[in-house]
Order: sequence, then structure tokens, then C-alpha cells
Amino acid sequence: MHYTINNLLSVNNEIEKKSNNKANIIAVSKTFPIEKIMPLIEHGHEHFGENKVQEAVEKWSNLKKNFANIKLHLVGKLQTNKVKYVVDLFDYIHSVDNIKLAMKISNEQKKFNKKPKIFIQINIGNEIQKTGINKNELRNFYNSCIELGLDVIGTMCLPPDDGKSELYFSEMKKLNDNLNLKELSMGMSADYLNAIKHGSTFIRIGSKIFGPRS
Ligand SMILES: *Cc1c(COP(=O)(O)O)cnc(C)c1O
Repeated sequence: MHYTINNLLSVNNEIEKKSNNKANIIAVSKTFPIEKIMPLIEHGHEHFGENKVQEAVEKWSNLKKNFANIKLHLVGKLQTNKVKYVVDLFDYIHSVDNIKLAMKISNEQKKFNKKPKIFIQINIGNEIQKTGINKNELRNFYNSCIELGLDVIGTMCLPPDDGKSELYFSEMKKLNDNLNLKELSMGMSADYLNAIKHGSTFIRIGSKIFGPRS
């Protein structure tokens, strides 16, 4: 069996053994070539993530035509000039954090007659170097997204790397519940069990499935 499938199965097993909740596993395949992704697709895995639009268009345009069950997630920063490619190709966008971007998505989804599912990214640790909206602006921004017709299903975060991820995860869960949102995108290779413990429904796993990125 291909090593990526073994790795995916062990992530799955660990969740089943150590957690009462379940979460969808997004295999984050950024930087990895199609040959490394193909075994997972043939194994029947559905959710894949990329963080760069250009790379995703090159890798996934044909694959998505041939495998209709694949769901593609954009987990990286999105610039407004690339929104048209993203609405065309991706099923989920995890990085919506400003009104200009929300307006652009609103326009493009009308043109394509197709609504990607949206996560609002929150800068949960208030880190200057990170994107995401401030939690104090969340409700207003959420309302604007709804007025613009966006299909907002949840919130997403990349917590600070300070060993206190559980604190941030539990705060995210509260913010998400306050808006009555069903989905929560948090947890990566190093912290997904804690994320699931605090209600994550989509974990984004890269290196634990594909190996280290060079
Ligand atoms: C790369 C990436 C991941 C996956 O990271 P790993 O630590 O390799 O699991 C998850 N989320 C985002 C936003 C990423 O850019």
C-alpha cells in the first residue's frame, strides 16, 4: 500500500481510538506532485487542500474533471485578482477575512452560478504577521458576508505556536457557536486531536500524510 494511504489510515485510527468526536480529514497536498496524490484519490479519499491558487489550477483542473467526488479546499491566503479561478475550481475557501474579498467572491459566484462553501478566517491570537479578522469584528463581518450571499459554513484558524493551542481552540468553538455555525476548520498535523476535542469538524493534515515538505 502507498505510504500516504497508510498515513491517512493511522490518522483515522488514532482519532477513532482517542477521540469521541469525528472530523473530516483534508489531505493538504501543497508542494506534492500528482503522483503522490493519486494513490489517495484511488483509495477513495475526497477532501484535498492546497494553499496556492496557481499550483492548484495546474494540479487539479484535470483531476477534478476525472474524479467528480473530489472536494478541493483553498487553505491559503487569497488575493482578489485570483478569485475567479478559485470559484471555478474550489469547493471550499477557508481564508475569507476582508470585505473586498467577500465582495469579489459574491460577484464571481454569480457569474459561475456556483457557490463555494466559506470559512471565515479568524486571527485568534491577534498576531500581527497573520491574516484573519479580529474576533471583535467577527459578527459584523459575518453579517456582511451573509448579505453578500456567501455560503458561510464556519470559521477557521491557525493558532499561535505557543503551546497553548487548546485555549485558542476552545475560544474558536465559542465564537463559532455564537454564530450558530456548524463547521469548524482547525487542527493540523501537530495538534489535530486537541482540535477535534474542542469541536473541529475539518482538520487540515499535510506532513503527517505526505511527509515533510522540502
Ligand atoms: C500547510 C497547511 C496545513 C497543513 O500543515 P501540516 O502541519 O503539514 O499538517 C494546514 N493548514 C494550512 C492553512 C496550511 O497552510
